[in-house]
Amino acid sequence: MQSLKELYKIGNGPSSSHTMGPKRAVEIFKNKYPEADKFKVILYGSLALTGKGHLTDYIIEETLKEYETEIIFDTDYKCEVHPNTFDIFAIKNNEEIAKWRVYSVGGGTFQIENKKELEFENIYKEESFGEIEKYCEENNCDLYDYVCKVEGDSINDYLQEVWNSMQKTIQKGLKTEGIMHGKLHLEKRAKKLFEKHIENEDEVTKQNRLVSAYAYATSEENASGGIIVTAPTCGASGVLPAVLYYMKEKYNFEDSKIIKALAVAGVIGNFVKTNASISGAECGCQAEIGTACSMASAGATYLLGGSIKKIENASEIAMEHHLGLTCDPIYGYVQIPCIERNAIGAMRALESSSLAMMLSDDRKVSFDVVVETMYETGKDLQSHYRETSEGGLAKKYCRNKYYNIDMKE
Ligand code: SF4
Repeated sequence: MQSLKELYKIGNGPSSSHTMGPKRAVEIFKNKYPEADKFKVILYGSLALTGKGHLTDYIIEETLKEYETEIIFDTDYKCEVHPNTFDIFAIKNNEEIAKWRVYSVGGGTFQIENKKELEFENIYKEESFGEIEKYCEENNCDLYDYVCKVEGDSINDYLQEVWNSMQKTIQKGLKTEGIMHGKLHLEKRAKKLFEKHIENEDEVTKQNRLVSAYAYATSEENASGGIIVTAPTCGASGVLPAVLYYMKEKYNFEDSKIIKALAVAGVIGNFVKTNASISGAECGCQAEIGTACSMASAGATYLLGGSIKKIENASEIAMEHHLGLTCDPIYGYVQIPCIERNAIGAMRALESSSLAMMLSDDRKVSFDVVVETMYETGKDLQSHYRETSEGGLAKKYCRNKYYNIDMKE
């Protein structure tokens, strides 16, 4: 596993694999070939099919704005290696001088074909959650100590920056009203949800309203291209901050404690990213919201004083009930079902944590097994359920544009 700095990235939404990853790769390529007078980018697979809605072309043009840039959407070619693939060419005097094939693998991380030297080092040596647990037992430490032992104490400064950014985004989102960009004309609803909870006396409803309002706040900022933290991706960036913000408010946790919970959640997200996938284009929404829910559930369980076994159990429960969840954003915007899904993911994370805290530690399914299952299930999903906007809700909605009158075909 790589550093948590490669998991939690602060940047602009709406999509880590469609905007953040391509932006970072294009920036490096541009700086490597400053002598070029033109750049050409060919987008394939999910990048070609939902790139417009996810602003891929916009971010590439912005990154290369001082150069002539040509962007081609090739929706026919299917890359066997990864569905989020693009080629970038540097051109000088009409001659191609360099070409990279880039795989945007999720969470803003990318790989370049035949360029292993540009990949980040795997600093965590343990390859399964079972191994991590064993390490912690042998070294008499918890998951936060494990992160510090591997990354050094400087990780705390980075996590503080991440937490500051998460809080700022929620606070901004709670104050913002209006209609989001795009054909759906979707209204921002975080503020409304937040104001509503005050009128309600019932504790459970209050918790659900609050945690949903926080998740909406971040997800609406993300959908509008605002600053968010990948946790583990942009599309699923609302779940973890919502849960941590709610826990902080409810129990008055100090920032130093929340930062430890971020580290614990990070181990879970990093583990899925390394051993399976956090990419909706590769494994559907179970890989994004499912992972975010596991991370948030782990963070909440840590804050409640849960042992490593309870943290593992909470993460497993959270992922297990997202298995098979497809990725079908309408018109390719990270809005429907994504925003609401973040709120449901945050509520479910608290429920999973509560269940794990109540139940005994002798669970039958391990986190390792559920992650492997998620990966296999994702690979088995038909491609139109993996961020292509060609299946599921996206297909039904587009075929039934007066859907509120008649949903049937
Ligand atoms: S449906 Fe899920 S995986 Fe797909 S774009 Fe939305 S949040 Fe991401």
